[in-house]
Amino acid sequence: MPTKKERGKLRKASKKLAADNNGGVNVIELLAKVRKGDNKTTLAILAAKDSSVLFNKQSSALVSIALKFLRRCESDTFAEVMLDIGGGDLICPSIWLKILFRAIELEPREEYTNCRRQIVQSIGPLIRCMCNDTTRLFFKSNKHWRDTIRSFVGFIHNMIHILVNSDGSKGLDILEILLNYEGLLTTITQWSFWKEDHRPDISNELVDIEGNKEIPHWGRKATWKVITAACKLDAEDKRKRLDVIANMPILNKSYDSTCQVSFVIGLVRIMKTDRMVGDFTALRTLIKESTYVGKDLITELLDLGLNFTPNLDDAKHIASTFSALMLRGIGDNHIAFVIRGGMFEMCLAFIERFGDESCEKETQQLVFDFIDVALSDISKLAFHRKTWKAIEAKASTIEENLAAVEQKPDITNNAKCNELMDMIRCILNINGSYCCRCNKSLDRSDMKHCNGCNTMTYCSVTCQREDWFNGGHKLTCNKPYSCEIIGVFQGNVSETETGEVDTKELETNISMIQLKLFLDNADNILSQASVLAIPLSDCVVGFDLRQCPYAVVVMACTECCETSEMATAFDKRSRENITCLYLTGIWSVGESEGQSLGMQRFFPHEWLKKQRIDVRVLPKLITSLPRSRGVDN
Ligand SMILES: [Zn+2]
Ligand SMILES: [Zn+2]
Repeated sequence: MPTKKERGKLRKASKKLAADNNGGVNVIELLAKVRKGDNKTTLAILAAKDSSVLFNKQSSALVSIALKFLRRCESDTFAEVMLDIGGGDLICPSIWLKILFRAIELEPREEYTNCRRQIVQSIGPLIRCMCNDTTRLFFKSNKHWRDTIRSFVGFIHNMIHILVNSDGSKGLDILEILLNYEGLLTTITQWSFWKEDHRPDISNELVDIEGNKEIPHWGRKATWKVITAACKLDAEDKRKRLDVIANMPILNKSYDSTCQVSFVIGLVRIMKTDRMVGDFTALRTLIKESTYVGKDLITELLDLGLNFTPNLDDAKHIASTFSALMLRGIGDNHIAFVIRGGMFEMCLAFIERFGDESCEKETQQLVFDFIDVALSDISKLAFHRKTWKAIEAKASTIEENLAAVEQKPDITNNAKCNELMDMIRCILNINGSYCCRCNKSLDRSDMKHCNGCNTMTYCSVTCQREDWFNGGHKLTCNKPYSCEIIGVFQGNVSETETGEVDTKELETNISMIQLKLFLDNADNILSQASVLAIPLSDCVVGFDLRQCPYAVVVMACTECCETSEMATAFDKRSRENITCLYLTGIWSVGESEGQSLGMQRFFPHEWLKKQRIDVRVLPKLITSLPRSRGVDN
């Protein structure tokens, strides 16, 4: 890829060669001239229109000459080499690299790969010189390094491109030989960062030959090709190669030994201002196939999504990149981090910006699907410790954002947007801290726990005592589930093995929300019960919190008692109460599906009818209930 000035020279030289050819100059003589370092002839061969014929017939000979010269690039100066061949008048050693460049371009792609193999096997010294980007010496000269680097990057980029795109495994075999040169893969990935802000030293040096723009682009393109090729390796080698790339520091250690920024992070940062075709595909592959899943990656991706997403198409790419990350099965820790980093804000921003009717439907649907999955994933973990706290911390901000989006008729008229916003509302709604007795909203600081089980939370000693004596907690505190007491038992009623997952935190978080869910759905419960036409005390209200938005189903208790023991136990229940069953998923590493936690709770059905009273009146209502005496917990 010669510059304009060089192209001009080449054209002139090629005309000269054509003239010479007419004059009967033969191939053997031409080769002899190249071997002697004749500048005009070498230039002419590179430029001649019919040089492909020459290369086809004599490529091996030409390549051998160039390789012989280039082998000395570490040990000798250019002048010394010229002297040895009898004083050629070549101007710059980069011309030999250009011969290699032409040879790999012109070699038929499918027939054989001899020439490419020959080159790759013999360019160790060239690679060592050109990859040393701190001393920057080629034939012991900084000037020659500078004059050659652009051709070298172009050459490597082109070589990789050709090898990856060739049919069969031969090309990939040669690519492996190439990538096995120590330091080459590192350098290829680091080329992407040869820009003013990361490598001002090199960038400034290359400004006038436009190397500061092209080299980072070619480097990135070459890296994408290496990633594509890595996907054709067997599973273990693929993972290893992609791990190396993802974790590669973006700066040469000899330039900056403290650099902690990995390639995958550096890439997302570059993508904020300078996006190239293939960036997202490569990023997704790295996220899917390498073991890299840092919090810094989540932070950068959210920033990209929130602040550098100019259009719907980019939103789609961000969405699918995030999906790749979420599919890795990130747990409570990471989901909490995703929320704190701004996932809700990003989803809402996408709804607000790309939710109206004018957007292209198919792409819009993909973005919507992602938001749906992301919110469902968050909702699955909503009762887990860190996710729970993260949602709580974000709740007021998100409510404000929601209110702002609700002002836009373009968005609220779209059914799917409303559905997604309902999901967000639902997640915010099943979060927060409440007194298990009076439903008063609690700050973590003024929350009191039952001393026995640590699961029930109260606003005051009064509520704690009320729940102990009149809410039946005395009978059930710390009691493990058994089938016989199903009708009179409150707490964890899961029969599935929960394995290593500690459900204590889940139980506390779900307990806090039970009364709120019960009262929030009073109308719904009453109307479902009236359709069933049975007394409230014979109803079981099921809250399926595994769905987002959660589902509320009222059933006859006879439907829930699978055995006669359960039916007998159920008969002993208090007729003042209605039985509520709360189902939620349990997330654990590697097993995100299948496990669930069931919690049972009773509430006086009287409370349903009184829910229109401000809930702050409830404590008074409760203290007016009859109290037992003389028992304390
Ligand atoms: Zn209370
Ligand atoms: Zn307790």
